[in-house]
Amino acid sequence: MAINITAYKEVLSALTPYHAKLVAVSKTKPVEDIEAFYATGQRIFGENYVQELVEKQAVLPADIEWHFIGHLQSNKVKYLAPFVHTIHAIDSLKLLQEINKQAAKNQRVINCLLQVHIAAEETKFGLDEQELQQLLAFWESHPADFEHIHIAGMMGMATNTNNESQVRQEFHQLHQLFGSVKTRFFNNKDYFRELSIGMSADYPIALEEGSTMVRIGSLLFGERNYNK
Ligand SMILES: *Cc1c(COP(=O)(O)O)cnc(C)c1O
Repeated sequence: MAINITAYKEVLSALTPYHAKLVAVSKTKPVEDIEAFYATGQRIFGENYVQELVEKQAVLPADIEWHFIGHLQSNKVKYLAPFVHTIHAIDSLKLLQEINKQAAKNQRVINCLLQVHIAAEETKFGLDEQELQQLLAFWESHPADFEHIHIAGMMGMATNTNNESQVRQEFHQLHQLFGSVKTRFFNNKDYFRELSIGMSADYPIALEEGSTMVRIGSLLFGERNYNK
């Protein structure tokens, strides 16, 4: 087992002054590793792959708050809807509508974060600013269509680079956008409050730039081996 409890404690103390939350990203890691962090008090875990999450959820304690942080296809929402707490990477209206439909079937409300594309890389998913505004305008004008989801905030991934000022600038822009979206669409809505930014390599910068929720994997669980 290569989990790092010292790093975990360090991350928690870094989060404390910001009142930010830790999503412990356990993708590709065995349930034993999750149980070890659970035993120290961690309750929020993040996964990227639907089948893997469903299998882990079935055998792990029921009070774990599961966050789905990966790219999600609409046809797989039904497998997560019975238990998922928050879905981080909403990048289309179609996906949001499907989540609402499946949450309704399960008589639940699912928290959703809108993923905004902030990185220079082409490959990362997410809405651009115009798509974001369009989605929110539709949401605002069709409240009855979204009674089983809460748009709880926004999520983004910075460019994978050693250039700290670039990462900072990308997070900063997203925080600005978060503020204007809050004012324009969610002024009296307490549930819109999460800015999910920051991973193992860049979470200290993300906290300085307004993160309320960091998603940290390799720092806590060790490097991932996708070939196993
Ligand atoms: C894997 C992953 C993380 C965690 O990455 P680390 O660099 O291991 O901390 C965070 N967010 C998303 C969306 C991921 O896919």
